[in-house]
Amino acid sequence: MRWSVSIGTIAGTAIRIHVTFLLFLLIIGIAVFRQNGPEAAWDAIAFITLIFTCIVLHEFGHILMARVFGIKTRDVTLFPIGGVATIERMPEKPYQELLVALAGPLVNLAIFVGILMALGDSFKISDLESLNDSGTGLAIRIASANLILMLFNLLPAFPMDGGRVLRALLAMWLTKTKATQIAATIGQAMALMIGFMGFFGNPMLILIAAFIFIAAGSESEAALFHDVTRDLTIRDAMVQSPAHLLPHDTIKAAIDILLSSTDDDFAVFDEGNPMIGTITRDALLLALSAHDDGTPLSSIMKKADHILYDDEPLEKALTIFERSDAQALIVKDKKDEFLGLISRAAIAQAILIKTARPNWAFHRDRFLSGHLPPINRDQRAASLLP
Ligand SMILES: [Zn+2]
Repeated sequence: MRWSVSIGTIAGTAIRIHVTFLLFLLIIGIAVFRQNGPEAAWDAIAFITLIFTCIVLHEFGHILMARVFGIKTRDVTLFPIGGVATIERMPEKPYQELLVALAGPLVNLAIFVGILMALGDSFKISDLESLNDSGTGLAIRIASANLILMLFNLLPAFPMDGGRVLRALLAMWLTKTKATQIAATIGQAMALMIGFMGFFGNPMLILIAAFIFIAAGSESEAALFHDVTRDLTIRDAMVQSPAHLLPHDTIKAAIDILLSSTDDDFAVFDEGNPMIGTITRDALLLALSAHDDGTPLSSIMKKADHILYDDEPLEKALTIFERSDAQALIVKDKKDEFLGLISRAAIAQAILIKTARPNWAFHRDRFLSGHLPPINRDQRAASLLP
């Protein structure tokens, strides 16, 4: 997640704080300091830090429940609205998503009930209303905050927990895409309402509403992408036999190929170590404005960190593109021989075709039919000679 800092790792999951969360702490600290002096400011910061700990525990509720279903979580990022965990993949079954979504708010409920039980008779229900009164005991204020956290997270504003619960319930009857679209639409409507309330009350709500609105839109889009690509393989969308280049070839040589062929993406080969990197058209054009023509490709190429196999699901490439800045990935066959490249543009093209014609038969045998003869590497090298 951009604009965030890591503060440590627990059970294999990195905990990150988004810059907006730190800004939120700062704004609260300064506001309380100006109103009530340094003591109250420190009390407010201590209170928020404890709440922050509860939010981390809330996220670990989700993370540990996801782990029950074999899903790992790379990191969790804290925003003023709460935490967002980057779980490896969405649970397959709706009941799994339901349990994962509920596990977070249940942690807040457990903290709330735990504090109430610890306080015993000294607790009065009216105490819960004095959330902002620093005269009230810290424990009671933490209990109230956990109750609010639970209720707020359970609002059906997708992609908040309540919205995920809603989607999981809808997905028990509808397709996942339809369920996501409905949940995201309701989420965006809720976001508009929360934002509207923000204009008359707490301006923080406007920020939260904007976050929900954008996140709901992008999740809905991602769900659509995954649905369209579900039954496609890497082979269906990959570019076969792209131009081969060598690490010591220059930017000029690559631009010459770009101009004289229909190739947009290139694979960089090395004599000893076959596929070492990729260069896309955009990267090449970017390099052209920053480097001189004689610069070797080895200094501007993207290292081949991910290797895909042609019979793997296209979703795998989509997931890698979502989580990295890679522009093109290398594709091999089962014998570990180089087959081609898959790029963001190639996937977008396959998605456009599949959207226009959902039952389009991708020619899985087109590589055997001889329509696209592989480009001979020596011919390519020869064309580079002056
Ligand atoms: Zn949650």
